[in-house]
Amino acid sequence: VTASGSFGAVDAARHAAVTRPWMRDATNDQRAFVAALDELCAREITDERLRQLDVDRRYPTEIMRSLADAGWASMPVPEEHGGTGGSAVDVALVHRTIASYGLAPAQAYFSLWTLGADAIGRLGSKAQRDAWLPRIAAGDANVAFAMTEPEAGSDAAALRAQAVLEGERLVVSGQKVFITGAAVADTIITAVRTGRRTDASRGISLVMIDPRSPGVAIRKIDKIGLRAIDLCEVFLTDVAVTRDSVLGPLHGGWEALRQGLALERTLLAAICTGATGQILALCLDHAQQRRAFGRAIGGFQMVGAALTQLRVALDASSLLVDRAAAAIDAGAPDAAVLASIAKLHAAEAYVTATRVGTQVFGGYGFTEEYPVGRHYRDAKFMEIGGGTSEIQTMIVARSMGLS
Ligand SMILES: Cc1cc2nc3c(=O)[nH]c(=O)nc-3n(C[C@H](O)[C@H](O)[C@H](O)COP(=O)(O)OP(=O)(O)OC[C@H]3O[C@@H](n4cnc5c(N)ncnc54)[C@H](O)[C@@H]3O)c2cc1C
Repeated sequence: VTASGSFGAVDAARHAAVTRPWMRDATNDQRAFVAALDELCAREITDERLRQLDVDRRYPTEIMRSLADAGWASMPVPEEHGGTGGSAVDVALVHRTIASYGLAPAQAYFSLWTLGADAIGRLGSKAQRDAWLPRIAAGDANVAFAMTEPEAGSDAAALRAQAVLEGERLVVSGQKVFITGAAVADTIITAVRTGRRTDASRGISLVMIDPRSPGVAIRKIDKIGLRAIDLCEVFLTDVAVTRDSVLGPLHGGWEALRQGLALERTLLAAICTGATGQILALCLDHAQQRRAFGRAIGGFQMVGAALTQLRVALDASSLLVDRAAAAIDAGAPDAAVLASIAKLHAAEAYVTATRVGTQVFGGYGFTEEYPVGRHYRDAKFMEIGGGTSEIQTMIVARSMGLS
């Protein structure tokens, strides 16, 4: 977005090295695919477009189509199903590259392509994988994930939506809330209770529900940020699905969900690093251009110190994402904790960066005409979605024997 800006060729390269620390140790293959993705994103994910989508509260359909047409939807899909079968490190690289241009398309990629590809790839029957994965890889299917309920968010195991087995079908009733992209989804992977509630986490199953089924109603919720991506309530009233709509083992949904958490949190952290890198790029540019008291504001120690702290936080987030993604690829037993550490740090660093960025931009930062203001509204979501910062803190504390 701003990597060149007012900088000369040498400065632009240095600027990119600072604002994209994750590229420092990238392989030649990774550099090549990021260069191709950069070229597409620079063309398609313009600030003007993002601002309009935000104002219109409209899903970035055209941007996602361009990404899919260039083959990027295939990255998280296993090779045997028409995908690229990217490692966690590569998938994280795609998420942060897209996020360094715009949060909304990165979040759409994550919520409606990657999570579904991961869950169906890991848990799906052959028929489910054959039916869905090639469509996700082609960018022709959006998969939403519905876990949260009005009375069950952080305490997800308290969920009450229920599916009753009636012969070869299940009848689902309940209410879900804060479901990203339900209004544009082709299927909603829905966590429901199928067993008795003796142990909260047992007896939960995942069911793939067609949002066009009789008994499904979707209502969009207005929100303060990330306005291009719908957040929805999903009402389920006696929705009948066939038994083969269950994803993964019947009653085994809790464990199935748990296994996906490390990737989910690492990728959210990756998105935070991409967005933080964009803010740093915007600020470095502005700090060199904007003059006060006869000099560029970047020359004032307080501005320099604020941007230095931003860079240090970005470097730390980036390294934590690299470590968590590598742990996932290696099947390391502590991958989930490393992912929580990465998400906790990267989300807070991103939120802090939006405060610093808005300050560095002064009055312009408070307008809708510069992207830092939009980041200021958008970023807060990252300390809430995918497990709040308090929940990540609890997970890390427990891993040290504290509870
Ligand atoms: C933009 C957005 C998109 C989302 N997308 C999805 C989606 O696609 N699918 C989906 O299923 N959900 C989604 N969510 C829901 C999200 O996962 C939940 O909002 C989140 O898990 C928190 O749950 P809650 O909102 O019920 O808050 P609560 O659980 O009620 O928490 C309220 C506060 O209490 C704190 N708290 C709770 N328990 C503890 C504890 N034990 N110790 C300390 N503090 C605690 C929390 O950290 C928080 O600060 C989304 C949310 C947002 C904002």
